[in-house]
Amino acid sequence: MVERYFRKHIQGLKPYSTARDEYSGPPGVFMDANENPFGQGLNRYPDPRQLTLRNALARLKGVNEAAVFVGSGSDEIIDLLIRLFCEPGKDSVLILPPTYGMYEVASAAHDVKVEKILLAPDFQPDVEKILKSEAKLLFLCSPNNPTGNLINPEIVEAILKGFNGIVAIDEAYIDFSVGDTSIGLLDKYHNLIVLQTFSKAFGLAAVRVGLAFAAPAIIAAFDRIKLPYNLGDLSARAALRAIERKDKKAKQVQAIVRYRNALAAQLGRLPCVDKVFPSDANFLLVRFVDARTTFDHLIARGIIVRDRSGQPLLGGCLRISVGTAQENRKLIEALKLL
Ligand SMILES: *Cc1c(COP(=O)(O)O)cnc(C)c1O
Repeated sequence: MVERYFRKHIQGLKPYSTARDEYSGPPGVFMDANENPFGQGLNRYPDPRQLTLRNALARLKGVNEAAVFVGSGSDEIIDLLIRLFCEPGKDSVLILPPTYGMYEVASAAHDVKVEKILLAPDFQPDVEKILKSEAKLLFLCSPNNPTGNLINPEIVEAILKGFNGIVAIDEAYIDFSVGDTSIGLLDKYHNLIVLQTFSKAFGLAAVRVGLAFAAPAIIAAFDRIKLPYNLGDLSARAALRAIERKDKKAKQVQAIVRYRNALAAQLGRLPCVDKVFPSDANFLLVRFVDARTTFDHLIARGIIVRDRSGQPLLGGCLRISVGTAQENRKLIEALKLL
């Protein structure tokens, strides 16, 4: 049972009960939540469980509604994961640098130790070392940010089989990838949590909607410890609308992948570029002959990329998000001047 991984006090914790939790019958005269009765459509508190959105997501992803959680960005869910599983000052989180920075920041905010096992030079995880770790929670980012590669599916499964704790697979970039989501493995591995987001492929970074798919026991525990109204109604509605317009998202993803591949080829021919790493995401990791000079040169021309050269294994590397056709042209023109 996955409950054995929970922090002890959470099993007995009594959640806040909202007015909406206490009455769930048909709509009527609502005098129970101290809301302003003069409505402009936003005067009522939102559904604390976002059931309409969770239901739409369950259908979209082909999972049970009880396996779906929605948060204020993946960042909220990363925080909840640490809160649910890791005892401050005692348990540790395992991360595989170079990777997304929030895992470490969120752990530190909870006074939870961070154990690090570097990716191999091909940016794949070192399974042998990972399986020896005593960490309570592992963050596996696939496709990984900032390296852009998908984690090999056999490695994912070997980790799920052998790792002693909870495995959170962050799939923020999965829609840009040729690889499959790990959502299909949820029935087999109850220690698995899959994170996705509306911030990248769905193009809704501003609305803050993150998703988790996991065993219903984990989702129920999230619901007990989350802030009562963690997702605003405007955000939930924007996400629902984006789901209804799946075709628009698919077209944008196709365009971004096409631009990414063209950009990779063009960058590869430039003398200032040492190496363009293969990407399964909406960005490219590029090693430049002189990263600092390149970065400053681009800034001077109003083009802002991310300097990742200080991270382990990433000497000389900048991370470049794929832009519109015009933005990508501007980038290449600027780099040709170097
Ligand atoms: C961009 C990104 C996210 C998205 O975070 P949100 O809080 O949902 O915007 C999550 N994980 C990784 C690895 C990312 O790069």
